[in-house]
Amino acid sequence: MGTLGVYIQVPFCQTKCTYCNFRTGVVSPRRFTPYSEAVCREILEHRCLLETSGVRTSALSAAAEPMVDTVYVGGGTPSLLEPHLLAEMLQALRESFRCEWSEVTLEADPETIEAENAAAWAATGFTRISFGSQSFVDEELRAAGRMHRREDIYRAVPILRAAGIRNISFDLIAGLPKQTNASWRQSLGETIALAPEHISIYMMEIDEGSRLGLEVLQGGARYSAPALPSEEAMAEFYEFAQAQLKAAGYLQYEISNWAKPGFESRHNQKYWRREPYLGFGAGAHSFSGSQRWANCHDAAAYVAAITKGNSAIETVDELTPSMTLEEELFLGLRQSEGLNLLRIERQYGVSVAEKSAQLARAGMVEVQGDVLRLRPEKLSVSNEIIVELLRGVQAIA
Ligand code: SF4
Repeated sequence: MGTLGVYIQVPFCQTKCTYCNFRTGVVSPRRFTPYSEAVCREILEHRCLLETSGVRTSALSAAAEPMVDTVYVGGGTPSLLEPHLLAEMLQALRESFRCEWSEVTLEADPETIEAENAAAWAATGFTRISFGSQSFVDEELRAAGRMHRREDIYRAVPILRAAGIRNISFDLIAGLPKQTNASWRQSLGETIALAPEHISIYMMEIDEGSRLGLEVLQGGARYSAPALPSEEAMAEFYEFAQAQLKAAGYLQYEISNWAKPGFESRHNQKYWRREPYLGFGAGAHSFSGSQRWANCHDAAAYVAAITKGNSAIETVDELTPSMTLEEELFLGLRQSEGLNLLRIERQYGVSVAEKSAQLARAGMVEVQGDVLRLRPEKLSVSNEIIVELLRGVQAIA
């Protein structure tokens, strides 16, 4: 039976964090209801909207009607929405798909969590909270333009637990302005002490898509660009976290993700394993196995299109065999389960055996039987290794 993940994008935030390169906006709460109504309508009419956009829905599942087993409501800050709006989105899913949910995640920032909301989320069916903690150091949170402070984290976690949320994932960022060795150890230590089931650690990304990134490229100090840790320091933070989390009983199952056994994110694993998922909302992406498509990013344009009964899909990309192979290598090697070389050979008629052996001799990867993995201590330079591997792909005659 084919299973399907569903992602719902809520692109609204209370303020814009200085490092954020997501297409999210700060808007009046009056826009939340029309947006939620558009998402519900897109869900209810998805089959027709997809077909008019050139998407082959037959590719979504081997079964006539796929079953939704994971849902992820992300953003932005979806916890800003009134709980009944989130409940209506989940209800639209129940009315549109066969549903047997094993994991229903809501992204929630600490300052938005109140007992009433949390109880409503749990009653609606959310089983997992992806908690935007980011740091436990107020100076770093302030410099990054975050709304919450350390005390909000300690206020919010017991509220979530009391509401019956048994699966909480903490986000931490390595490389925030003003972060030091000591402050990183503090954030990591306080995270571990709160014993969440799952921890994600993201390395600070610097590009022209954020105010902080622009400041790094163009100069200035308003967003604390001169106080960013060096790349070497960030790599040290990451490696320190790997050791500490392992010692605390967390398994690293992906480059940025650690979980207590059994709490790996089932929804996010679909992305890395190239399993099908449907995205709803402005800027949401979808994948069927042979096509990738995306809605327009602008929330107002999205609402206008759906309200008129039109699709909001902006791009539909057909995957060629070489694009698929590239995805397989990039996504497969992000995971600690690694990549099955025999399957790659059979499916794509190519071999990466020679290059894998060369990289193994250089201590970058390990090959066990048919499985190729990045060495755990090389995960912080994974992109370079994967690019090198792609260069060594050879066609099998
Ligand atoms: S809360 Fe998240 S999505 Fe919103 S501005 Fe901050 S980093 Fe970006």
